[in-house]
Amino acid sequence: MIIATGTASGKSLAYLVPAVADIFAGGTVLYLTPTKALAADQLRALRKLRLTQVRAATYDGDTPPEERRWVRQNANYVLTNPDMLHRSILPRHSSWSSFWRRLRLVVVDECHGYRGVFGSHVAQILRRLRRVAARYGSSPVFLLASATASDPAAAGMRLTGLEMAEVTTDASPRGSTTFALWEPPLTDLRGESGAPVRRTATAEAADLLADLVIEDVRTLAFVRSRRAAEAVALTARRTLEEVEALLDAEPQPYGEYGEGLPEEMSDAGRPFGSVSGGAGQAFGDGAGDGTARGDASGAGGARDADRPFGEIGGGRERPSSVAAEIPQGTKTSDTAETSHETAETGAGRGTDHRVRLADRVAAYRAGYLADDRRVLEKALRSGELTGLATTNALELGVDVSGLDAVLIAGWPGTRASLWQQAGRAGRAGQDALAVLIARDDPLDTYIVHHPEAVFGQPVEAIVLDPDNPYVLAPHLCAAAAEIPLTEDDLKTFGPAARGVLDDLVEQGLLRRRPTGWFWTSRDHAADLADIRGSGGAPVQVVEASTGRLLGTVDEPSAHTMVHAGAVYLHQSETFVVDVLDLEAGVALVTAADPDYTTFARDVTDIRVMESLRSRPFGPGTLHFGSVEVTRQVVSYLKRRTQTGEVLGEEPLDLPPRTLCTRAVWWTLPTPALADLVKPGEAVDLGGAAHAAEHASIGLLPLFATCDRWDIGGVSTELHPDTGLLTVFVYDGHDGGAGFAERGYARASDWLTATREAIASCECERGCPSCIQSPKCGNGNEPLDKAGAIRLLDILLAT
Ligand SMILES: [Zn+2]
Ligand SMILES: [Zn+2]
Repeated sequence: MIIATGTASGKSLAYLVPAVADIFAGGTVLYLTPTKALAADQLRALRKLRLTQVRAATYDGDTPPEERRWVRQNANYVLTNPDMLHRSILPRHSSWSSFWRRLRLVVVDECHGYRGVFGSHVAQILRRLRRVAARYGSSPVFLLASATASDPAAAGMRLTGLEMAEVTTDASPRGSTTFALWEPPLTDLRGESGAPVRRTATAEAADLLADLVIEDVRTLAFVRSRRAAEAVALTARRTLEEVEALLDAEPQPYGEYGEGLPEEMSDAGRPFGSVSGGAGQAFGDGAGDGTARGDASGAGGARDADRPFGEIGGGRERPSSVAAEIPQGTKTSDTAETSHETAETGAGRGTDHRVRLADRVAAYRAGYLADDRRVLEKALRSGELTGLATTNALELGVDVSGLDAVLIAGWPGTRASLWQQAGRAGRAGQDALAVLIARDDPLDTYIVHHPEAVFGQPVEAIVLDPDNPYVLAPHLCAAAAEIPLTEDDLKTFGPAARGVLDDLVEQGLLRRRPTGWFWTSRDHAADLADIRGSGGAPVQVVEASTGRLLGTVDEPSAHTMVHAGAVYLHQSETFVVDVLDLEAGVALVTAADPDYTTFARDVTDIRVMESLRSRPFGPGTLHFGSVEVTRQVVSYLKRRTQTGEVLGEEPLDLPPRTLCTRAVWWTLPTPALADLVKPGEAVDLGGAAHAAEHASIGLLPLFATCDRWDIGGVSTELHPDTGLLTVFVYDGHDGGAGFAERGYARASDWLTATREAIASCECERGCPSCIQSPKCGNGNEPLDKAGAIRLLDILLAT
């Protein structure tokens, strides 16, 4: 059964009631959530019920070893996450035998988060779970809870491999929400190629947050990166301090109080923030024929901050110096819990007894210690805090109710997430306010100019592809290590399983015996699957002078983020990379304060391996198939932080990386392009294709439930494999993730929206809101905005 309804519609009750009933009948329940925070929250809710028969416990990376044993043997309601299931519970299934034997119900909460490659991994983990349970004679019911999604039963079936009934009617009472779509103005600043720069979404969010706090409107501001969360809170507080200074000076109505925040405060995803939170990999072909260029996906350190499910990383994130970020307002609390904070953070704030306006605003994000997060949640619930700026760490169901307004800085990626975040506003049936603030990005621009793309539209389907052989193979190994695989198991793992098993035998990873397939190595088979898709062993970023570990960067992103000479940001401190040693997996860095950021440039080559599907598309052809993408970081640019001015380009010597993946691509025959070139006008074909590619990458997430960073693209006036003008958009994960396939299926809507996004941007020759890409490996050169619109007109003409 899958329940797919909105925030606060009572889903938890819908699975808690059968779960408790199963426990009363002597059964056990397994509860899965993508994050530890949500499991902890659920545990609290469960304990509030005071049911002595329910022995509930979390089992995750934070559970101390001495407690684990107790949980395995005694708990009948276990709350955990897919990572833990994959690495610990399934491989050691025999120590859970009494739990398995009585397993009646598996609750999969927030299951809309299991999409793309991560979702495909979770789908295979759930198949392994079904097989292990069956071994102990159990065949549990799967109860899935999801945000509203298109066709939830089909998604639930892809995720579990089981037939699903769906519940989609939400009859819970709600007030009305006023929804504003907000586009920040263009400024006088100039960015790349002299493009106009918009005021940032975070700057606007900080102003709005301050305004709402003055009005005593309880507000949550969602931003995309950790840095932005802190910047928004800090700027709003500064503004409020100024307001208060004015009020203290002379009583007067709130008037103008400053200009908001300095423009240099930048969004993570902005072009010049390339090494900050939002930047993933960029690669493109800038050399040789000068016509092919690529823009790619990449995991990036950005992932954690920008994606809803990135936060459990199991302690990879070092706790920050949270003390400084605890709201000063907590000092006024007289509870024992917060007085501890007072000693550390409350000093030097004057003697005023009333809570100052500025102290009513704080930042909250993943990476804070759990205790500090609890303090903030409590302060917001109690009304001690009025405004909280947060990454989507809060999005996942942690109980913060009683809000009046929600600010969403930047399209959160999906309509489902948008509604989930907006659904936070509205206490007990009262009316509420939600504001979506557009970022400098083609998708955001499209949405604020096309409200119909959001309102009255069904939310996205949950896209995942459990048959991806790159995902399936390691899970077949893990399954064989758990219990040898037999012919009967093949149907559990889907139609691709047999072929993949043959490959695994050939590679010597599995042994074929008359009774089935066996894992005979001493290694942990589960180590083969990297379910959060970070790709290989991470590179450690170490401060050279002290040996301090600052953080890690996944291997694919290391080339672009921590190459020698790169500017690396960590907790708003700046470092420059001295050396990147890929073999040792270490980047040594030194604290520095350069006035420039760095931006990796790369060469991308794409080869068509096989077109799996194709159809005529306008005068051209649309394809979906397998490609091989080779990318090499070849140099980096230094750009002045404030202006984006290029200070120089330095060569780099890094090995190429190859990705075998799926792509959607379209071609246009040369005669069709004759209309493009009008007499007396210069049209740069390559620039037009490149611009169309950038914008189409920006818009695909509207149709394929992916992140801009999950996909890449290459465009070329003449591709050697097609012999034609070709634009590729590919999945940035080995084996593909289902996004390009979705683009193929929705090509007409997708490319029409792409054309609209470019045409509706008010800039003259292209800007980050339309055709410039923050991750272009080719430095956004060349781009032709008018040419891109005409090129898409030709392609879309029917
Ligand atoms: Zn524009
Ligand atoms: Zn590009």
